[in-house]
Amino acid sequence: MYTIALLATGDELTNGDILNTNGQTLAQQLSSQGFNVGQHCVVNDDETEIVTAIHYLIQHHDVIIMTGGLGPTSDDRTRFALANALGTELIFNEATFQHIQQRLAKFNLSTNKSREQQAFFPQGAQIIENPNGTACGCYIRQKQKHYFMLPGPPFECIPMFKQFVLPKLLKLQPKPNKIIRKWQLFGVPEGTMAAKLDKLFKSDQCMTGYRWHYPYLEFKLIYQAEFDATNLIKQVEKAIAPHIICAANTSASQMLCETLETFNGFIQIQDFATKGLLEYTLTHPNTTTKINFQEADSNADITVCLQGLNEVWQPDIKNQYTSLEIEIKSAQDSLTENIDIPFRSRQVVIYAIEYFSYQLRRFIEKAANSLIQK
Ligand code: ATP
Repeated sequence: MYTIALLATGDELTNGDILNTNGQTLAQQLSSQGFNVGQHCVVNDDETEIVTAIHYLIQHHDVIIMTGGLGPTSDDRTRFALANALGTELIFNEATFQHIQQRLAKFNLSTNKSREQQAFFPQGAQIIENPNGTACGCYIRQKQKHYFMLPGPPFECIPMFKQFVLPKLLKLQPKPNKIIRKWQLFGVPEGTMAAKLDKLFKSDQCMTGYRWHYPYLEFKLIYQAEFDATNLIKQVEKAIAPHIICAANTSASQMLCETLETFNGFIQIQDFATKGLLEYTLTHPNTTTKINFQEADSNADITVCLQGLNEVWQPDIKNQYTSLEIEIKSAQDSLTENIDIPFRSRQVVIYAIEYFSYQLRRFIEKAANSLIQK
C-alpha cells in the first residue's frame, strides 16, 4: 500500500496568514478513496528548506504531492527545489509557454521574461495542464517514487488534482486495500448514533469515525477491501435512514441548488424566518432565475412560505426549542410542516435552512416525477 505525503510551500502558510486548505481537501479526497495519507508538511518559500523536506518525505513515503510556489516571481521556488532534489535539470516546455502566452493574451497582458520561468520543468516530467491559470503542474516518476507538483491557489490546484492526480494514483494502485464509506446524518448527536451503530459490527471487522459539523454528523465505516460488507452496509443504512437528508460529502442546500439548476419552473419564496440567510444560501448564477425572494409573483409554479425561528431574533430567550413552519404549494400538491428544533445557539438557522432545503427538493422532485408519469 502506497503512503502519500503532502508538501505545501509558502511563507504565508508558515506565517499563519492563510490556512493550508489544499492539504485538507487533498487529504480528504485521498483518504475517502482508501489511500493512506502518511504525513503533511508545510515549509516556507526557501529552496533549501523545500529540498530538505522532499528528501525527508520521500524516505518515508512513496508519493509526494506538492502544492504552491509555481508562480513567475523569484520567491516561487518549488520547481527549482524539485529538480535539485531529483538531481535533474529544468527543461523548457514550449507547449506550456504557448499556454501561458494564450492565457495572458486573453486578459490583454503580454509575456515578460519572468513568465518564462513557469515553462520550465524537471527533465522527464509529464505536464499537468492548468485550465484556470498560467501555473501548469507536473508529474515525475523516479526510482519507483512518484512526485506531483501543483499550483497553490485552490481553484487551480483542486481541479488539477481531480482531473489528473487522483486518476493517476488510482491507475498506479488500482485496488486500495482499505475501503471508506461515508454518510451524512442530520441533526443527531454522536452518542445517540454510536449507541445504535456500534452494536452492528465487531471491532476487528471495521473501524468507525464520527465528525460533527453542525447540523450534520459525518459517519465513516472503514474496512479492509477483502471484507464483504454488503450485509453490514444494509443494516447501517436501515439504522441511519431516518437521519439522511442528503448524500455524503454534500448538504441538503447544495443538493437543492443542483435541483434548482435543472428545474424547469419558477419558485416564489416568502421567508419570514431566516432574515435573508436562505436567499444568500440558494442564490447562485445558475439558480437566480429560478427563485424569487422579492415581490409576490402570481406566475410562480411553486410558492413557499417560511415562518418561525422567533427565539433566534430576540435577546435573552431561554427556550430550549424554536419552531419552524414550512408551507410549500403548487397547483397539484401542497406540504405543511411544523417542527421544533433544539435551540442551543443562533446556528439553528442553518439547521432550519438544511431541513427546509430537503423538503423543497423532495417537493420539486415529486412534482417533476408526476409530470413524467402523466
Ligand atoms: P501563483 O501563480 O498564483 O503565484 P503559485 O503556485 O505560485 O501560483 P503560491 O504563490 O504558492 O501559488 O500561492 C498563491 C496563493 O494561493 C496564496 O497566496 C494563497 O492565497 C493560495 N494558496 C497557496 N497555497 C495554499 C494552500 N496550501 N492552501 C490554501 N491556499 C493556498
